[in-house]
Amino acid sequence: MITLLWMYPRHLNTYGDGGNLLALRMRCRWRGIDTVLWPVDPGDRLPRRADVVFIGGGQDRSQTVVAPALQQHRDGLEALVDDGAVVLGVCAGYQFLGHRIVQSDGSVLDGLGLLDVVTAAGAERCTGKIVVDPHPALELPATLVGFENHGGRTRLGGDPETRPLGRVVRGHGNGDDEGTEGAFRGDVFGTYLHGPVLPTNPGFCDLLIRRALNARGATTDLEPLPDGVEHDAAAAYRT
Ligand code: GLN
Repeated sequence: MITLLWMYPRHLNTYGDGGNLLALRMRCRWRGIDTVLWPVDPGDRLPRRADVVFIGGGQDRSQTVVAPALQQHRDGLEALVDDGAVVLGVCAGYQFLGHRIVQSDGSVLDGLGLLDVVTAAGAERCTGKIVVDPHPALELPATLVGFENHGGRTRLGGDPETRPLGRVVRGHGNGDDEGTEGAFRGDVFGTYLHGPVLPTNPGFCDLLIRRALNARGATTDLEPLPDGVEHDAAAAYRT
């Protein structure tokens, strides 16, 4: 049984980011692995255990609304990660995994500090298709694809364990002069890729599932799935 925690579905769910949960659940179900979805709204408690924590994208305004609630779960989320939870943050969710976010109006939001990154709003928005060559340590089978729409620029700090998720082949990613996209540290992953990212990048989705299972001591390999439709969808992003 895999428990999927979805932080703030009513506030952080831009561009159908909730589809990432659907992809995780379906790719588990097709392999006979049960999942349970645990949505967390502001004021809700965290479960004692979670296998995957997902935080999606959102407008600056939504980020401002949920930021205090997220801070209340800072220690709780850190404990879940220490206990083996895999984390995926997309766009606003990615920014929240870092130390802080300086928004376009100058206000500063605290993050969770699970990744050594900081985000600050830039002059223009970064929008459009994005193609990313994933970090070799992830051993992903293909370039990651999606689209991005964010004002924030994210910089990685000096922590050698926080590494870029990949190098930008096309698009903006962390920022125009960075050449990198997203970040990961252990089993904590942040990315600017919408799409949603997991249905169109099944290798990445399976990596998260595998890591979540491995954290519970399950070492069996995942059964391959027929990913023709997914690969066709991804190809459309590369043209
Ligand atoms: N509000 C953030 C930004 O513009 C995140 C946007 C998003 O999640 N799509 O940088």
